Amino acid sequence: MYKKLQFKIVLILVSFIVCVMTVVGTILISNVFTYFENDFIGQQSGVFTEDFIDELEKALTYSDYPERLKSTLGAYSARLGIDSYRNYYVLDADGNFLSGSVSDEDADIKKTENLVRAISGNTSHKQSAGNSMMDWAEVLNSPDGSVRAIVYISDDNTELEEFSWLIFTIILQSLLIGLVIAILLSFFLSKAIVSPIQNITKKATKLSRGDFDEKLTVYSDDEIGTLTVTFNRMADTLKNNMNEISNEREKLETIFYYLKDPVIAFDSEGYPIHINPEAKELFGLEEKDELTLDALTEKLTLDSFTEDLTVGENDSINLTNVVYENRVFDVSFGKFNFNLSDKSFGGYIAVLHDVTESFELDKSRREFIATVSHELGTPLTSIKGATETILANPDMPGDVKNHFLDMVISESDRMAHIVHDLLVLSRLDNNRMKWIPSSFPINEVIEKCCLLLSGQANENSQELKFIKNEELLPEIIADREKVEQILINIVGNAVKYTQNDGRVFISADLKEVSGVDGLNDGKYFTVAVTDNGGGIPEEDLPHIFERFYRVEKARNSDKGGTGLGLAIAREIAEAHGGTITIASKLHIGTTVTVYLPVKAKFVV
Ligand code: ADP
Repeated sequence: MYKKLQFKIVLILVSFIVCVMTVVGTILISNVFTYFENDFIGQQSGVFTEDFIDELEKALTYSDYPERLKSTLGAYSARLGIDSYRNYYVLDADGNFLSGSVSDEDADIKKTENLVRAISGNTSHKQSAGNSMMDWAEVLNSPDGSVRAIVYISDDNTELEEFSWLIFTIILQSLLIGLVIAILLSFFLSKAIVSPIQNITKKATKLSRGDFDEKLTVYSDDEIGTLTVTFNRMADTLKNNMNEISNEREKLETIFYYLKDPVIAFDSEGYPIHINPEAKELFGLEEKDELTLDALTEKLTLDSFTEDLTVGENDSINLTNVVYENRVFDVSFGKFNFNLSDKSFGGYIAVLHDVTESFELDKSRREFIATVSHELGTPLTSIKGATETILANPDMPGDVKNHFLDMVISESDRMAHIVHDLLVLSRLDNNRMKWIPSSFPINEVIEKCCLLLSGQANENSQELKFIKNEELLPEIIADREKVEQILINIVGNAVKYTQNDGRVFISADLKEVSGVDGLNDGKYFTVAVTDNGGGIPEEDLPHIFERFYRVEKARNSDKGGTGLGLAIAREIAEAHGGTITIASKLHIGTTVTVYLPVKAKFVV
């Protein structure tokens, strides 16, 4: 309360009034004293002229001079200002009462400075401020020059004191009334000054809480009015600036939100300011979870690099191929400033760009090239070895030579086979495969495939059988040659990887299919090829459709496979709008199912 401006204004005004009234009172009262003294001296000196003193001194020649002097002075009592407070006395040379305006009993004669001087022979009427009384002592000399009598005028200052007291009480009353008025006025005045300031303060408090809408009313065009207008203008500017800032922030948040890359912003201390949903998902963070910079670098097993950013000149650091939970990221850490003007360090932004796909692609491309080189390199080495052996031994027996030449032909066939398969895959990859759709009964293709592979199955004493559906299946619209290719690859595998005396059964159907990976629910032709061969280990099944993937290469090396057959078959099926699935149990057998739509998807 005492600190409040309102109280201060009241205090200032009250102090001002008290000071003014004290100064005025002091000056007034001291002037009253001076006035009274001057008036006294003026009156006495007007009466006690040389002639009047001569006249008084003449009376000294008479024996009853005290009475004579009394009556002469009595005649001048009005001019001398004689009243109940002021008396005149006729004193002898020693200052003893002879006669006066009052009787000897009532006479109150003090030995004042003036009177003492008069007794010593000098007329005296010196006055000095602060004396308790005013007096005038006039020495009357006898003709021989000796002091004969003293006329002494004494004023006991009662009138002056009464008058001064009256002035004092008037000043005191005025002071009190003035104080009351001052306090009331100062209240109104301070209210007039303080209210707008209070309003501005309230508004400033609201502003600090982010409420920019309310406007202050301008009541006057004085300094306070100007302050109010300026304040309103400032609030408007602030509101616009805040709107712009929140707009920018909103934009940034939206960008952050929809960014497909995980992004985390850290403050200068390394605490998170913002974590976008992708980052939360990647690091499994709940709504309230925090992820500090240190925790992030630990998770990503990055060396302490923040020093490079703070100490070094680099504004950003880019780290490639950072592996986190089977995903590969290019991680960028960028420094940002707190604000543009002072360039003070504000924090870091970490962006994790998921490059798993391109990394995998790149990896598989490199692996593919290595595999192709290896797959082509092996028969080439055999061919080179065989031809070199023939050339080095011109006398080689015919049958041995023929064996080597057979080897050259078979390895050349194998190379041609690989190159053919690679060309098919390349055409599929580049969408350059020529599709020739036609309508045909799927049974015909299966029967042709059985016919083609029956020789091989017979050689192995295998039972290759097409178990036909009881109902006649409708015709399929697809590329007949490519469907044949699919079935030859799959039935061929079944024959190839099934031991002698084994069984390979084929069945076909048209049915509603749902819940198959990579396939829309709907009606599909299904061709299931089931064998009771060695089967495929469980851990190999997810990779079986990958290019060049073969189970236990050593085990199958004598089978002459390339590891491209299933990949080609599935890609052809997928190009038709279908797929291929495989189910296998080691040492029990394998079932490969081909799904083909009633009408291939490339048919318009
Ligand atoms: P390959 O030319 O080696 O036969 P594929 O892509 O056709 O290549 O087959 C990939 C691998 O899958 C084969 O190497 C083989 O190990 C395995 N495989 C395919 N079909 C069968 C099957 N019916 N029984 C057992 N293993 C099979």
